[in-house]
Amino acid sequence: MRALLVVDVQNDFCPGGSLAVSNGDRVVPVINGLMERFDVVVASKDWHPSDTVHFKKWPPHCVQNTKGAEFHPNLDAKRIDKVFLKGTKNKDDGYSAFEATSDDLDRALKDKKVDELYVCGLATDYCVRASAVDALKKGFHTFVIVDAIAAVNIKPDDGALAQEEMRKQGIMLVSSQDVKP
Ligand SMILES: [Zn+2]
Repeated sequence: MRALLVVDVQNDFCPGGSLAVSNGDRVVPVINGLMERFDVVVASKDWHPSDTVHFKKWPPHCVQNTKGAEFHPNLDAKRIDKVFLKGTKNKDDGYSAFEATSDDLDRALKDKKVDELYVCGLATDYCVRASAVDALKKGFHTFVIVDAIAAVNIKPDDGALAQEEMRKQGIMLVSSQDVKP
């Protein structure tokens, strides 16, 4: 069974947000087109308390129950079966969707007999990478859809380096066109 994991496609990571990925919103139509090809679609949300040590490293973003934490308005969120909330505590954690505290993502996927996980969303060099690497460690055949991700690129090559690192670890990098219905 295949599943699609949509990582953090939230307002604060899109243009106009407090921690915007440049052109982050370009992944939205690609992801909308992908969701209908999967029986199982799950998503993560960065979901921080307003006071957290995480904001010593990053500008405040995705604070629980704020506009910035909502999915991008054009994301076809009704196709998402379940949302997993991460970064919910006063810790610098929650880069990987598998660190979600609202529910156990690994268990939820394995309960649905998922063995192939396709990862997309934001941002390539942080939460997408962390989620894909965790998925691989947890035994999923892991794919990252390269035209459905975008990078923060604090250094200009961060996204490219993250892709190379994922590939070296055994994660398959694919294009959305290669994802069969
Ligand atoms: Zn965060």
